[in-house]
Amino acid sequence: MITSPGEALWYHLRHRFIEPRYRSEASEDEEADWADPAGRLRQYAEEALVSASCTRLISKARKHLKQIVPAGSATCELPYQESTIDAVKQFCVDPLGMSFSDRYLGRFASLAFDSAVAAGQGASPTTRRSAFREAASRAGGRVACYLCATVLGRWDMFKHDKDLPLDHLWPQAFGGVSGEENLLPICDACNGLKKDRITWDVYGTVHDYALRLNTADGLALTRLALHRRAAAKLAEDEQISLKEAFMLIGPYQELSAVQSDESDWFFNQIAHNADVLKDLW
Ligand SMILES: [Zn+2]
Repeated sequence: MITSPGEALWYHLRHRFIEPRYRSEASEDEEADWADPAGRLRQYAEEALVSASCTRLISKARKHLKQIVPAGSATCELPYQESTIDAVKQFCVDPLGMSFSDRYLGRFASLAFDSAVAAGQGASPTTRRSAFREAASRAGGRVACYLCATVLGRWDMFKHDKDLPLDHLWPQAFGGVSGEENLLPICDACNGLKKDRITWDVYGTVHDYALRLNTADGLALTRLALHRRAAAKLAEDEQISLKEAFMLIGPYQELSAVQSDESDWFFNQIAHNADVLKDLW
């Protein structure tokens, strides 16, 4: 269940550019592992491209709105919407190898506009309070970071705070809505690491992913990325929201896929870095 326009754009991009190839090649594929449509490395690389495209389309819509909307005006007015949709279409038709008759093009541009509008609408104090209180009520009055389980304190300690530490599960900057359905409490350390990342493509390229040096941030980011990946997969498989998936999975310590002893898994960089790359570099 998709809750944010940026999230919808990501899935539309994947559907348009990745899934048809999986389907068409699955039947005839007799090649080596690298070309296996189910291969995780390929999946990783393709999803990284989807993420890069998604963020570029939304960034373009945001920049365009910033240029055309006078200060104090509402960005969602029709002329601004039409102008932005046109600008995004022009922007992406060539790099994405699309034609103006492609039925996905208008959908991409429209979702990029909706994402840019969502990016400009932060959570109200009432929504933040309500999201925070709901998280506390599920944990006996204590508020904990949804990523690392660090206890932030009892709900009473925060009830007069204006700036409650909440994370947009789908980042606001990339079209995440500011409603309770997209907010969970987060600690400062995790918030600082996660920033606006939208998928498990932590470092940007496959090469970086496989050969990244062993830095403390690198390991922590890998944990966050794998955790995020597991939640996104659960949400998609079970047709639930990202928030429901994160709540079902729990903090990353409880996720077996990110335990360091599973060193034989290609994408578990924690073990590979600590045991091997440290000596190589
Ligand atoms: Zn945390």
